[in-house]
Amino acid sequence: MLKVGVIGVQGAVSEHIEAVKRAFERLGVEGQAFWLRRPEQLNAIDAIILPGGESTTISRLMQRNGLFEPVRKLGGEGLPIMGTCAGLILLAKEVEGAVEGQRFLGLLDVRVNRNAYGRQVDSFEAPLKLSFSDEPFPGVFIRAPKIVELLGDKVKPIAWHGDEVVGVEQGNIMGLAFHPELTEDVRLHEHFLRKAL
Ligand code: GLN
Repeated sequence: MLKVGVIGVQGAVSEHIEAVKRAFERLGVEGQAFWLRRPEQLNAIDAIILPGGESTTISRLMQRNGLFEPVRKLGGEGLPIMGTCAGLILLAKEVEGAVEGQRFLGLLDVRVNRNAYGRQVDSFEAPLKLSFSDEPFPGVFIRAPKIVELLGDKVKPIAWHGDEVVGVEQGNIMGLAFHPELTEDVRLHEHFLRKAL
C-alpha cells in the first residue's frame, strides 16, 4: 500500500490527489493519496507532492505547520518528492526573484526564476517533449517559474518546451515548471510514483 501525501496548505491539491489515484490504477498498485497538513501524517509515508500555488505562502505555511524541516529532512534521506510550479520553486537550491526571508528546501540543484513569465504570458499551453516517452505531453503553464540553470550534473532534464528545460529529476526528487495535474495525462505522476515502488 503506497501512501502519497500532497502538501495541503495552499494551492492545487485535489487535482494532484485525483491524478495520483489514476496513476495508481495504471500502475496496478494499491495506494492512498491524501491532503498532508500535519507533521504526524509523515509517519510511514512513501512519497510527497508539493503542489502549485504561491511559493512564498506555501513556504510560510509549511514552517508554521511544522512541515518544512521534516519534509526537507525526508527528502535529503531519499523520500521521493515531486514539486510542480510553486513546488519546483520550493525545491530549488537557488531562486531569482525570491521575497526577502523566503525559505526553500534546497533539494534540487537548479536555479529558477520565480516569476520568469511575468504578467504578459500569464498562462499558456504547449506540447512538451519527455525523456521517457515518444508522445508529447500537454504542458499547462500558469505564472510559471523558469529553470534558468542546472547546477552540476546530478540533476537531469526530463521535460522540454522547445529547447528549454521545464522538468528535471535528481534521484528521488522531481521538479516541473508546469501543472501535470491539470491534464488527463498522468504519465508524469506515474514516472514519479515509480520512484516509490
Ligand atoms: N510563480 C508562482 C510563485 O512564485 C508560482 C505559480 C504557480 O504555482 N502557478 O509561487
